[in-house]
Amino acid sequence: MALETISCPLGCQGPDDFVVQGHDRQHGLPGEFTVVRCRTCGLARTSPRPTPESMGDYYPDDYGPYVGTRISADAAAQTGLKARALAAAKTLFDTKAHSLPDLPVGRMLEFGCASGNFLKLMADRSWDVEGVEFSPEAAEAARALGFPVEIGALEGIEKAENSYDLVVGWMVVEHLHDPVGGLRKLARWTKPGGQLAVSVPDSGAAEARLFGKRWYALQLPNHLFHFDASSITKVMAASGWRVTRIQRHRTMSNLIASAGYWLEDKGWLRVGKALKDFPERGGRIGALALFPVSYVMASLNQTGRMTVWAERIGE
Ligand SMILES: [Zn+2]
Repeated sequence: MALETISCPLGCQGPDDFVVQGHDRQHGLPGEFTVVRCRTCGLARTSPRPTPESMGDYYPDDYGPYVGTRISADAAAQTGLKARALAAAKTLFDTKAHSLPDLPVGRMLEFGCASGNFLKLMADRSWDVEGVEFSPEAAEAARALGFPVEIGALEGIEKAENSYDLVVGWMVVEHLHDPVGGLRKLARWTKPGGQLAVSVPDSGAAEARLFGKRWYALQLPNHLFHFDASSITKVMAASGWRVTRIQRHRTMSNLIASAGYWLEDKGWLRVGKALKDFPERGGRIGALALFPVSYVMASLNQTGRMTVWAERIGE
């Protein structure tokens, strides 16, 4: 496996601080990886890291986001008061903060659209949707739903300028080798005044420091950048986007799974495994049971995941 060392993508010249060293806990693949933080701008990055060419080794076919994103049959369209009540409940219990503000319907691009769940959701709301997806299997699943999905890495894809009203990417930016280049490209494809919504782990939460190399959202070496509210705002500004809002996700998944890693390392293998599987197996009941705690933790910016809204800068 080929590794590369990179400097701060914001062009800082200053030294870096060591943050943490860890290995691939998700798939158990070999290698030790280091996270450093730029002392000038505060952006943390995995370095050295796998090169773009060798990165595929770290995305096995059973990689979580590629599977298990099946569509659940949506209830028939609701109208009137019931629809408004349903919409309000959906916003309240929107654990991933994917609820969209009141945007006029338009054209949307989702980068990293996996098997098309969110494309379907937005198409059902009359949006004209398109996707970009790295995994051919996931892209085929989204295409089977009838959506135009281009297969490949964002780096290799070109679209017409000023094409979209909205661009979204859920838990994708931290996987990009060149987030500034990628986000600049997305800004060019977006119409003036268009919106961007991305979710990323939030390393500004206390849980990241508390668990260190056992922090679930570290996900080495797949996560190449480790943002907090301040550093993602700087990366956005350098890429043509002005951040307008940051919402923390209402979920305890990171904290529970991190505790699972910790217990595993202490030799409590069974309970450790049960906890670390929570993000993928905890399900709706688990999320609802923990919702009051999640709500409070999110309002304290302590859930370790965030959705960042931005507006395209310039003409
Ligand atoms: Zn920097």
